[in-house]
Amino acid sequence: MSHSIDTVAIHAGESEQRVDGAVRLPIFQTAMYAHDSKPLRYIRYNNTPNQQIINTKLALMEGAEAALVTGSGMTAISGALLSVLKPGDHLLAQSSLYGGTYSFVTSLLDDFGIGVTFIDADRPDTWEAGLRPRTRAIYVESITNPLLEVCDLEAVVAFAQAKGLVSIIDNTFTSPFNYRAVEHGFDLSLHSATKYLNGHSDIVAGAIIGRADLVTRSLHTLKHLGGALDPHACFLLNRGLQTLALRMRAHNANALALAQFLAKHRDVSRVNYPGLPSHPRHARARQLFNGFGGMVSIELAGGLSAASRLIERLRLPLFAPSLGGVESLVTRPAMSSHASLTPQERARIGITDYLVRISVGIEGTGDLIADFDQALS
Ligand code: PLP
Repeated sequence: MSHSIDTVAIHAGESEQRVDGAVRLPIFQTAMYAHDSKPLRYIRYNNTPNQQIINTKLALMEGAEAALVTGSGMTAISGALLSVLKPGDHLLAQSSLYGGTYSFVTSLLDDFGIGVTFIDADRPDTWEAGLRPRTRAIYVESITNPLLEVCDLEAVVAFAQAKGLVSIIDNTFTSPFNYRAVEHGFDLSLHSATKYLNGHSDIVAGAIIGRADLVTRSLHTLKHLGGALDPHACFLLNRGLQTLALRMRAHNANALALAQFLAKHRDVSRVNYPGLPSHPRHARARQLFNGFGGMVSIELAGGLSAASRLIERLRLPLFAPSLGGVESLVTRPAMSSHASLTPQERARIGITDYLVRISVGIEGTGDLIADFDQALS
């Protein structure tokens, strides 16, 4: 019998062996294990009890063959890319990526002799021109950070299959609740588990989910590079995962209501949210996703000074980077997630200095709207 993601998040991977009758698997705060009949167990090898629960659970949550929990989202991204690509290889990547990923592919991958060509991920007719003899993979985000674009994800999978490329998606913004990327054909789905998967803004973690051979290769790479998640953080992540479905329903509902309110406000000149009919890819998001997520970005008619005043006057959302926790946060991507880009690079992607990104939490919907109302007025 196949269970809903709500049930999988709670029960999958949990140990049948109740240690001393404990309902929760204790934190196995030990780096190594005595030699026994099993393969050598060690935290860096990602095969200890608190890690294994999450590996099994995440694979089932995305309908994948395998999964690997990692020490951060960037460990998942760098570990997966360095497993798929070798010196001399080439990557096609969406042009508007999370700043850390953009910086990784343009600096470190380049140092390793791996080329990258940026593509307009919404224009499949242009991708063929970017191919080189050693193009090995295509990399996109399910919903981009911070402009909330939804590229042609189905075309990415079809193109990768037709051209023999590995299709890789950063599925952080949707989470497996809103989009099961592997079930939709992606070879690898990567997450910053720091965000929705954990959901409580108290750890940094990541995940590589997908085809068993590619996850095994990533494990091999990360055995060398390190970047395993420690047992205590695994325990917290597992606890967060168990409420993912509940939290995502609340994030989806709150963000939609707030986006609708902001779209009608006279001082707000632009609202980016895939759940609004005005979003250029609303129909696609509606077809592909179970919900539109908790991220909204806006521009105010009054530009940077108005954006700064809004941030100052908001009482509920904290002015802080990162996203995906139960509490609402606001930031300006130009000074946080995309600070590593030059002003020219940000301008090319369309990130203004006064773009405000809102990570909509799960507070009372009316309270959040009232807070934005008072701050805007
Ligand atoms: N992917 C996306 C879409 C992100 O927003 C972030 C972090 O902000 C990352 C990856 C990196 O994750 P981490 O900070 O957990 O390394």
